[in-house]
Amino acid sequence: MNDIAHNLAHVRDKISAAATNCGRAPEEVVLLAVSKTKPASAIAEAIDAGQRAFGENYVQEGVDKIRHFQEAGVEGLQWHFIGPLQSNKSRLVAEHFDWCHTVDRLRIASRLSEQRPATLAPLNVLIQINISDEQSKSGIALSELDALAAQVVELPGIRLRGLMAIPAPETEYQRQFAVAQQMAVAFETLKTRYPTVDTLSLGMTDDMAAAIAAGSTMVRIGTAIFGARDYTKN
Ligand SMILES: *Cc1c(COP(=O)(O)O)cnc(C)c1O
Repeated sequence: MNDIAHNLAHVRDKISAAATNCGRAPEEVVLLAVSKTKPASAIAEAIDAGQRAFGENYVQEGVDKIRHFQEAGVEGLQWHFIGPLQSNKSRLVAEHFDWCHTVDRLRIASRLSEQRPATLAPLNVLIQINISDEQSKSGIALSELDALAAQVVELPGIRLRGLMAIPAPETEYQRQFAVAQQMAVAFETLKTRYPTVDTLSLGMTDDMAAAIAAGSTMVRIGTAIFGARDYTKN
């Protein structure tokens, strides 16, 4: 087994253990492998080890990788855009990705909907919540969610699937869980209102167990699968 296959198996075990510990089925939690800054060769190793869903933060880098695997004839992959999205890059996301986790204003949602090619299924979107209320982070406040969700569900080119958040780092489990639970409550409420909603994208390497205990359905893991990132090369 190579390192990436080995790391993936380890992360899957951790997800299973976290789910089982709180009485959930491991299949309820999707593993999104965050491959930003990593070469296509690393992604290919993860694909060989059975991974299908990948998360990318930079639009052009992600599109290059999507094209690479399309040209190689690899089918069944799912590409998630998880980085901050500027309006002038929305078209590339609408044309190439399957999901966008970072919708936080109507303008971006409308552009994604208009720019989604009619030949493709609607783009799956998550509304990003700035759950720790950090100045530096994107996302809306929970108090703004109802209004934005009601507008997003009217747009034909996108499909509202749920919520995403990047909580401020916390080392203590109880604090991680408290924040994750706020997200889970908002998610459950949204789910009762809109039948397309089924995804809570929450939990990274250090807070995965708390996120899963609270009800996350998708964890986003990079370093624990692909190793540390080297930003000096970009
Ligand atoms: C980079 C990133 C991750 C993965 O982070 P790791 O610490 O490498 O596991 C998850 N979510 C988002 C939004 C990211 O940008």
